[in-house]
This record gives sequence, C-alpha cells and structure tokens, in this order.
Amino acid sequence: MSERVDDVDGVVRQAQAVLAVTLQAYVAIDTEGRVLGWNPAAERIFGFTPAQACARDLADLIIPVRFRDAHRAGMARLAAGEPGRVLGQQLQLAAVHRDGHEFPIELTLTVTDEPGGRVFHAFAHDDTTAQRAVRFAVVEAAVAGGLAVAESSTVAAARVVEALGVRMGWPVVELWLVDDHRQVLTCVARHTEPGQRLGDFALDELEPGIGLPGRVCADGAARWIPDLSADGVSLRSAAAARIGLRVAVGVPLAFGRHTLGALCVYAERMDDPEDTLLGLLGRLAAQVGQYLERRRAEELTVELARTKDEFLTMVTHELRNPLAVISSSTALLDEELDELTSEQQHEYLRIITRSAQRLSVMTDDLLDLARLESGHLAVDPIDTDLRDIIEQAVQANATLAAGKQLTVTMQLPERLALHADPTRLRQVADNLLSNAIKYTPAGGTITIAAGLDDTGETITWTVADTGIGIPTADQTRLFRRFYRASTALEKCIPGTGLGLVITRTIVERHHGTITLAEHTGPGTTFIVRLPSTTPSA
Ligand code: ADP
Repeated sequence: MSERVDDVDGVVRQAQAVLAVTLQAYVAIDTEGRVLGWNPAAERIFGFTPAQACARDLADLIIPVRFRDAHRAGMARLAAGEPGRVLGQQLQLAAVHRDGHEFPIELTLTVTDEPGGRVFHAFAHDDTTAQRAVRFAVVEAAVAGGLAVAESSTVAAARVVEALGVRMGWPVVELWLVDDHRQVLTCVARHTEPGQRLGDFALDELEPGIGLPGRVCADGAARWIPDLSADGVSLRSAAAARIGLRVAVGVPLAFGRHTLGALCVYAERMDDPEDTLLGLLGRLAAQVGQYLERRRAEELTVELARTKDEFLTMVTHELRNPLAVISSSTALLDEELDELTSEQQHEYLRIITRSAQRLSVMTDDLLDLARLESGHLAVDPIDTDLRDIIEQAVQANATLAAGKQLTVTMQLPERLALHADPTRLRQVADNLLSNAIKYTPAGGTITIAAGLDDTGETITWTVADTGIGIPTADQTRLFRRFYRASTALEKCIPGTGLGLVITRTIVERHHGTITLAEHTGPGTTFIVRLPSTTPSA
C-alpha cells in the first residue's frame, strides 16, 4: 500500500517537474475563477509571476474586459456540472498580457473533481505567430489572386491595396508608381478605411525624393517611420500625424535593379514586429513588381503595334500627299517648262516649296517627339518672360493669320516672369497658335491671354479661337500620338496629330498641365498652367 502511495507521489512530482519545463502555459483555477496553479510558461506568456497570479481572479488577470462577463457565466455553468462544449476542445481566444497588449492564444480546458471541489486545468500557448502566418498567407493569396485576374495595371494596383487594407486592418494603403517620362511619382491606388479622413494627406503626385514614397523610390530600400509626428523631414508625415496615423512603412516595388514604385502603409499602430512586416510587404512588393513589369511589356507591345499602324496610316495620308504634289509638279515643270509663263513657273515652284515645308515640319515633329519621349530632348530652364515668347510667336505667325483674315488679340501683362526653357515654350506657343489659325475659318478671331493667378505661383495661359471646335467624343484621345479629331478629318485639313503630344510633353516637363476648356459656343480653348518657378529652381 505504502509502495503505491510512493508511486503516486512520484508521479505527481514528475508531473510538477514537467509542468515547470513545458512550453505550454498551465493555469489551474477553482470554480470561482481563482488561480490555483501557474507554471513558468504562464509567467512567460502572460507576464505575471506565480506569486502575482495565485489566488487572483483569472478574469481580472488575463481576460479582455469585453469577454469577462461571458467567461464568468461560462465558468458558473461548468461549476454547476453542465457538460459544456468547451471542455477538451482546442479554443482560440484573446488574452491580455500584464503590459496591457492583447494577443491570441490557443487553449485546451479539462476539469477534475478534487476533494475541495471542481478544478479547471487550462493548457495554452501564444498563437500570435501562427495566426500572423495564416493572415499573411491569406493576404498573399488574395494579392496573387487579384493580380492573376486583373485586366489592367490600374485594376491590379487597386486589388493589392484593397487586399492589404482590408485583411490587415490598415487604414491607409497606397501604391505609388514612378512616371519616368514626367519625372514624378503618381499614386495609382489608395485604400482608405471607411470613416478615415485624409485632409491634406491625400496627394496624388509627389516629386522624386519627397515623402515616404519618394524616399523609398529614391533609395530603392524599405523604410519604417515609427513616429510620423516626429518625422521632421516630410510635410506629408505631419499631415498623416494630424489625421491620427502614427506609423508608416514603405517598401520599393522593384524589378531587377529598376525601382518601379513604392507600396506604403500608414496606421495608428502596427502590431507585428518590424522585420516580419517588412518581410511580408517585401514579398508582396516583389509579386507586384513582377506583375507590373510583365504588364508594362505587354502594354508596350500593344502600344508599339498601334503606333506602327497609326504611323503607317499617317505616312500613307500625310507624307504621300506632299510627296505626290512635289513629284507631279516637278514632272510638269520638266515637261512643259518652255510652254509655261514665268508666273506659272513660279506658281509651281511655290507649290513645291509649300509641300517640302510640310514634309520638313512633319519630320521635325517626329524627331522632336522621339527625342522628348526617350528623354534626349533637354529642357533647360532659365529666368525668362512668357509675354516675350507669346509676342514672338504671334509675330512669326502674323502672315498666316492675315492670309485668312483672322484677328489675333493678346491680353498680356507687362511682364510674365517664369523659370522655363524659352525655346521649348516658343514651340508650345507656335503649336497652339498655328493650330488655332489652321482650324479657324477665314474671318475668325484668336485670343491669347496669360496672367499670374492670385497665389503668384501659377501662370494661366489660354489660346482661344472661334474655329471648327473639337467634339466632346474626341477630347479624351486628343493628346494621343497621331490622333486627329473628326472635325479636322471631315474638313480635310492637313495635319499629323503630333503637335499636341509634343506640346503636352513640353508643358509637363515644366511641371505644368494642358487642358481643353469646356466650350458652349463654336471654337476651341486650350488652357496651359505653368508654375512661375519650377520646383527645382
Ligand atoms: P495636327 O494639327 O498636326 O493634326 P495636333 O497634335 O496639333 O496635330 O492636333 C491634333 C488634333 O487636334 C488636330 O488634328 C485637330 O483635330 C485637333 N485640334 C488641335 N487644335 C485645334 C483647334 N484649335 N481647333 C480645332 N481642332 C484642333
């Protein structure tokens, strides 16, 4: 008999030794919820020593306030002997650490009947890592799924920020892309949690190197800002802090050595450790980078095919015409030179010269466009005067305008100082004015106005005519290469559809915009807005 008691004692001692070293938290409580047992793993996981925990109410120690009533009611039912569905099951619950942070635990509960009453035994472990891995896997699967079915880069970007924002519970997620051509960063997709105000944080364009997206793209490296209110470098961080966002993380979207953009997340707090989150975001960014690069290649191929088609059409229509005129006129001159009067000979020579000039303009346009698009056409800003530039263009086009009895009026201040490339702006002035002349029937009016707005930062320059106008349906495609509006085609007015593309590229290189004003009456008005000083100046 005594041997048997020794045996039992030995087993109990062994069980206690096991409880002391196991990685599982062991917590025993009585029917009142008071702590009877608390092993070292419980101390590690929940932060209380056995001395601090024993005899205390478990609910007060580790159960989140919102679950305490339910916990006490459940315990009362179990104490009363109800079988309870929770016994012997693996339960996923939330617990509170001594330092106040909440975390998920996985727990199994058993009950024994002891001489002093029922005792509940819980074995638990911290489930944060496992749950985080599951959540990350879900986000990655959502992103991969979203990318697989996205019909365009824009849709793909929207899916990525949505998946991250919704599944990770982050209030603001942004995807920024570098626009090499315009040398700016554009926010192509933003997820905002319902109810989250954005205020002046909501920017859609940033200069290279500015803000978290700009810095991530410039360095090609991830960046973690633990306290946005203390980040004195960026005005946008201050704007974020004002709307309650405290922490920000940005990772580069890269393909090989080429940084395509940045994926940025802003939140009040980030529960996951820095390296784990950077790992997740880095993997997502790599997926997105690969997708975007593949898409870009596909889009380029389509664009190239389209451009080739349009180029061929343009060559057929626009280059062949003047060439045909030149060859027929020279053939005629050759054959009939002796029979033609001197005036007739001059008339043929003038026809040949005009056609050669049209060819030369087209060649220049094509070359300019190629250089601008490949970035080889330099824009060299200096302090200059837009009034001078516009006046020179008006003078240069005066004969053309007079030939069609057009009235050209200018509404310009004495001086319009700005920091810009005068040669390139002259090209803009010439393009807009020569279009106005070309597309306005005889007797019409062209009005060129320009001035500084109230802030003193932006120059607004308009070129308005009373000509054939541009139908609304054509307006969205107007700045595409080789695109010509139906009004111009119907009236067989010659053109290449290149001037506006070049004009827009130049304006954007000056950090400006060109738009078409809404028109109720006949005619067309282009509006160019330019900063009076470029940001880099
Ligand atoms: P182009 O004049 O050589 O065709 P642009 O790129 O300068 O090429 O213009 C593109 C198209 O925009 C023109 O073909 C014409 O249809 C339309 N457009 C441009 N300016 C005007 C204007 N002032 N009035 C009417 N249509 C215009």
